[in-house]
Amino acid sequence: MEEIENTFEQFELNRQLLNAIADAGYTIPTPIQQKTIPLTLQGHDVLGIAQTGTGKTAAYLLPILMKVKYAQGKLPRCLVFAPTRELVIQIDKAVGELAKYTDLRHVALYGGLGPKTQIEAIQAGVDIIIATPGRFMDLYLRGDIGVKDIKIMILDEADKMMDMGFMPQIRSILEVIPTKRQNLLFSATFPEKVERFSYEFLEFPTRVEVSPQATTAETIKQRMFTVPNMQTKINILEYLFKTGEIQKTIIFTRSKDIADKVFEALKGAVVPKGEIRVIHANKGQNTRINSMDAFREDAVKVLVATDVAARGIDIEHVTHVINFDVPLIYEDYVHRIGRTGRANNVGEAITFLTPPEEYHIKKIEKIIRMEIPRELIPIDVTIAPTPFDENQAMLLEIDNQRKKEDPNFKGAFHEKKNPRAAAAKKKALTSGKSGGGSSPKSSSISGKKYGFSKSNKASKR
Ligand code: AMP
Repeated sequence: MEEIENTFEQFELNRQLLNAIADAGYTIPTPIQQKTIPLTLQGHDVLGIAQTGTGKTAAYLLPILMKVKYAQGKLPRCLVFAPTRELVIQIDKAVGELAKYTDLRHVALYGGLGPKTQIEAIQAGVDIIIATPGRFMDLYLRGDIGVKDIKIMILDEADKMMDMGFMPQIRSILEVIPTKRQNLLFSATFPEKVERFSYEFLEFPTRVEVSPQATTAETIKQRMFTVPNMQTKINILEYLFKTGEIQKTIIFTRSKDIADKVFEALKGAVVPKGEIRVIHANKGQNTRINSMDAFREDAVKVLVATDVAARGIDIEHVTHVINFDVPLIYEDYVHRIGRTGRANNVGEAITFLTPPEEYHIKKIEKIIRMEIPRELIPIDVTIAPTPFDENQAMLLEIDNQRKKEDPNFKGAFHEKKNPRAAAAKKKALTSGKSGGGSSPKSSSISGKKYGFSKSNKASKR
């Protein structure tokens, strides 16, 4: 049985970086990381065509952190340029997170505030500078930045940099920094002007690209349902099959376990046994190929799959894609739904989300530059009560998301520290009450909060 090797371990990064990657919650490298990291480690110049949301920042940061390795001397060895202050701050934050177990020093240089603190940080010694070209050049011309040790230069969002008129500054920077260096250029789009500049900037670059569809095909109708828990997702799925709303369908899940659960719930009861298959990394390569062939030939109507297993499947005429879970690698949303509506066939993508998945769908909506229409849960669908453990796991996830966005947020999730309250809540739940919430601030995820209609709850079957 063949397992797909797709982990960060394969890149042979050092332990400090691997630990930081684990802390960041990354388990599987995104496609751009998969392609960029080895090339950059080998010293190639890289031209990356990738948008925000693809994991491109870590794709270039991880190998350069591996190369710059530890604090050394006073002068910077790596320069990262980005067009806006916000992006510079965001990249600097990512450096902080990924380099947290190293002693590497990094500083963000951007305009809009006095340069004093930035200059002091440079003078104290720095390994990596993340800057807008304008502010960098100002400080360089004042004599505040020594550039003779620069060995790596990265341009992020080069297309935007050009649109914003930064090219003269970039050219001046290229004139003053050492010519013997490694260069990486990332751009969301690749118009001719970026292509021309890439010839100037990069030496024998390797081009890596992740699928350019930022906007989802117009032939795909998208909608989503917010639900309180996983069982309700299954209930809606059953409903959609029973009412004949969906036919030839791929159902994507976040993990192998969930894929198996969905498969078991539908098999026989909702979809005839022979017409549904599940594919994930635990299924042998042959089983996966057989299932896909059967699906392609219409013998199988429903495929339940994880993203890893489904990568690279080229199947036409799928009428529906169900995102049973919101993908955590946001680019996968575009990949997943791209499987329906191909070649001008109208297709539909339906996404189910629990409260913690709101966080991710918002990021996806930003990437696809549209809001996915939300629908109320159909009245005939039973809204299942949320099991205690699932509720706790969701609350914890939401807390972690808030902490990620706001480092000062202390967390409203006290259950762990308060085993008595947790035990009392468990008792209340097992005695028949649904939802539940031990803290007066409402740590429960109630249907009301997420806008379910009363009629659903009344219509339990
Ligand atoms: P970027 O495209 O660099 O702006 O990254 C988009 C988001 O994906 C950021 O929130 C990253 O923290 C996250 N991210 C990057 N790499 C991974 C990964 N391998 N797995 C999960 N999330 C990731």
